[in-house]
Amino acid sequence: MITEDQLTSQEAIALEEKHGAHNYHPLPVVLSRGEGVFVWDVEGKKYYDFLSAYSAVNQGHCHPAIVDAMNKQAQTLTLTSRAFHNDILGRYEAFATDYFKFDKLLPMNTGAEAVETAIKIARKWAYEKKGVKEQDAQIIVCENNFHGRTTTIISFSNDEGARKNFGPYTPGFIKIPYDDPKALERALIENKNVAGFLVEPIQGEAGVYTPSDDFMKQAKAICEKHNVLFIADEIQTGIARTGALLAVCGNCTCEGHCERQETYSRPDILILGKALSGGAYPVSAVLADDEIMNVIQPGQHGSTFGGNPVAGAVAMAALNVVKDENLAQNARKLGELFRAKLNEYIKDSTIVNLVRGRGLLNAIVINDTEDSSTAWDICVALKENGLLAKPTHGNIIRFAPPLVMNEEQLLDCVAIITKTLGDFEK
Ligand SMILES: *Cc1c(COP(=O)(O)O)cnc(C)c1O
Repeated sequence: MITEDQLTSQEAIALEEKHGAHNYHPLPVVLSRGEGVFVWDVEGKKYYDFLSAYSAVNQGHCHPAIVDAMNKQAQTLTLTSRAFHNDILGRYEAFATDYFKFDKLLPMNTGAEAVETAIKIARKWAYEKKGVKEQDAQIIVCENNFHGRTTTIISFSNDEGARKNFGPYTPGFIKIPYDDPKALERALIENKNVAGFLVEPIQGEAGVYTPSDDFMKQAKAICEKHNVLFIADEIQTGIARTGALLAVCGNCTCEGHCERQETYSRPDILILGKALSGGAYPVSAVLADDEIMNVIQPGQHGSTFGGNPVAGAVAMAALNVVKDENLAQNARKLGELFRAKLNEYIKDSTIVNLVRGRGLLNAIVINDTEDSSTAWDICVALKENGLLAKPTHGNIIRFAPPLVMNEEQLLDCVAIITKTLGDFEK
């Protein structure tokens, strides 16, 4: 029986184990409350959240402005479907297209759906605008990509766990090494049927693999030269996480989104999700200009919940928080401090090889084999010491706190991390 009584952590975990599909392997902590950079478990222990739900909670847990917008809209109108108009969607689309400087937005719910949408738009554009023969369109992707979990998306993954026994796989994808503009150029010379190049500006799931500074600029230029759409999956890197509004903004330090030519690698198609709602609600979006977005006509694509009024209200509030609280600049400043402190530690460390990242999307590489449990054990110890982080791809630990963190809190977290790592030094 499930009652109103608070469960213990053990009871909550046992219920999931017994009644839930085993498609995740969470750290053994059961959270029941969150506020800003902190979360609390059911026993009342307080933690720094250093994952932010994979960068969905950039604005911090239960941000009052976002919760308020959600509550108000939830009490007014929640869902109309797109069979009818609602009085929020247009306002949200006007707001978000002005914010990111694209002609149009197509609303979806999850990140994977937005990636699927971008793939569909790119293929349709190739057939109707570029003149590729139907069924022949190709999309170039990178090795070690992560774009979600649908059957088509896992078809072009090279993560065995994500792929194996889920075939047959969707054709139409060409894989090239990441951070390799020459490979992109070669693939485009060899193949005239390419619709788009789908890329993460930093590969988050792969272990915060951060490419050379000019990779985005070069990739964009090569795509332009070959009349191929440059499609940026900023679901994890976007919305201030890397110290700029978008990771494709490069090293631009402005507060918002200025499209400065020298830094901004403007995508033809921009994919957003996660922090678009501040983690309050599943909201994703695809943005593009008219000549691309207009290939989609009524009846050709959609979603029952996509563009619902709660999503629109929540997304506008979440995007306002990013600018009002200067989250991009804060992420940039604290990110530099974080890497400086960790680099200081690494000098004398045998357990950590490397810290890398941009803004507040960072990772450390543990000095152990891919299949060792060291990264996991460190995360369990971090939890005991009051900080929640999760290994990604074996021996790498991602560090991505909410961007509403202040410097004192960050230094407190650095102390927890270095103390914990110290316990693992040989
Ligand atoms: C999380 C993520 C996705 C998938 O988003 P979901 O909401 O989990 O479907 C796609 N691409 C990137 C880069 C992501 O980080």
